Amino acid sequence: MVEEIASDLYKVEVPLPDNLLRSVNSYIIKGRERNLIIDPGMNREECLNVMQTSLRKLKVDLGRTDFFITHSHVDHFSLVLNLGTEESTIYFNRPDMDVVDRIRRGTYLEDAAHFTFLNGFPEKALKEIFDPGADGYYRSEKNLVFKMMEDGDIINTGDYIFRCLRTSGHTEGHTCLFEPSQKMLISGDHLLGDITPSIQLRSDERNPLKNYLESLDKVYDLDIDLVLPGHRGLFSGCKERITELKKHHQERVDQMISILGKGSQNAYQVASQMTWDVNCDSWDFFPVLQKWFATGEAIAHLKYLQQKGIARKEIKEQKTIYSLN
Ligand SMILES: [Zn+2]
Repeated sequence: MVEEIASDLYKVEVPLPDNLLRSVNSYIIKGRERNLIIDPGMNREECLNVMQTSLRKLKVDLGRTDFFITHSHVDHFSLVLNLGTEESTIYFNRPDMDVVDRIRRGTYLEDAAHFTFLNGFPEKALKEIFDPGADGYYRSEKNLVFKMMEDGDIINTGDYIFRCLRTSGHTEGHTCLFEPSQKMLISGDHLLGDITPSIQLRSDERNPLKNYLESLDKVYDLDIDLVLPGHRGLFSGCKERITELKKHHQERVDQMISILGKGSQNAYQVASQMTWDVNCDSWDFFPVLQKWFATGEAIAHLKYLQQKGIARKEIKEQKTIYSLN
């Protein structure tokens, strides 16, 4: 359950029940004065039990422990609300903290659902996706101290000097930790070894695919020997992986251009014709949550094409329709 990756740096595989990702990686660094936990997992019993057992085994005192959170997603962020103490500093970032605040106010999911509906997602299916209690994972009565980190900010823990690396794309504020002397990158969901990080759009103001591709270039330029991702195994060959991910998105963009070549369509219709790595015979049989993710990805790619001047967007009968220019 606990694996030593480098001196005083441990990986814990935290299970994610009912989730296709199966588990999330939490990294624990034991320091002389303060410890650091990176992405503790999800705020549910199964994750808490594994983390508490691992922390006991490593003799980590939570009263002397800080946290770093790569991004706002529930599987990375939410357990900090349970494990964090009022003495902990929780290093996070402003754009994703704003998302957490909106989730807590109940407006984030509502806005995302409406936006995706305008992009063709069936209204009936939206009701099946949203668990009315889902924002409960983000609630906390504790007085926790969050510190907003910017690109280039430094966190010292034990012998490690981590540099915060803003890698917008998977979420707007997504931040990796780079350790130059160890040539090590703690990559969250920016880089994963055998899964493609999902890039989805849930509001019209952003262009996450453009940001993601730029963030890949930013990491490509660094000297990295070992990537410690948010899910699955560690990997080397960082530059090769970045090249693969860029090729994947280029293929997606090409596929979308050929789908739009058949005529104007909304994002849901485009998503239904794309190839997805889902164990299902056809789009009709996709689980509704997979359709939600697929539509979010299609919108992100369509927005990218629109901003490049390859596609255009129109509103017809209150629905967003894309066509090739
Ligand atoms: Zn994520």
